Amino acid sequence: MRSESRSIRAAIMLTAVVASLAPSARAETPADRGARVLTRAEQAQLTPGEVLERLREGNRRFVTGTRTVRDHSAQVRAAVAGQHPKAIVLSCIDSRIPVEDVFDQGIGDVFVARVAGNFENTDILGSMEYACKVVGAKLILVLGHENCGAVKAAIDGVVMGNLTAMLENIEPAVNSLASYPGEKTSANPEFVHLVAERNVRMTMTDILERSPILGELVSAGDLGIAGALYSMQTGEIEILD
Ligand SMILES: [Zn+2]
Repeated sequence: MRSESRSIRAAIMLTAVVASLAPSARAETPADRGARVLTRAEQAQLTPGEVLERLREGNRRFVTGTRTVRDHSAQVRAAVAGQHPKAIVLSCIDSRIPVEDVFDQGIGDVFVARVAGNFENTDILGSMEYACKVVGAKLILVLGHENCGAVKAAIDGVVMGNLTAMLENIEPAVNSLASYPGEKTSANPEFVHLVAERNVRMTMTDILERSPILGELVSAGDLGIAGALYSMQTGEIEILD
């Protein structure tokens, strides 16, 4: 009896090992997402384009209410040995955008860097270089959003404590739209939208200009960079062209 149950256990373990050695990361199943974590081999096989597509698909599941049911306890245990996330997302701190949730991602799936106004600075760039050059993430996604309080504050030139210096990081996006013909205040939703989008695009450019390490990875095709805006109304992510 005892030896029989041991052999059954061994067979189950072997099945698990064989499954973990599956060569392709491309056919991701709900079961994969629910209980496993990305392996180094799976991360290595993904292209930046495939990672972006997985984030798009995850956002579709978020919007349609079909998010993956995850066994976080199993994923925590599976991730003890190390992490091989496929992307790093740079997001605003806004509490209405739980980043892993809006992309239906689980433990070990994505790095997330957050700062009000989703701009880059030395600390964020260092974090990105760690995520991409050291750990092997394949995509940087700069995620701005509509109705961003930091963007509105930058537009209105808010002066307050450390906020003043922080908002200077968003001012170039505001200033780049100086020729905008309409009302350039936070009361104008169109202008707020334009600044949020410009801020994402300028952040993407700045990341590549200020980090030769990341720039070289992108030039070699080993890393992608994309920008996106999150809609508060729909929960949808719009990937910028
Ligand atoms: Zn914001």
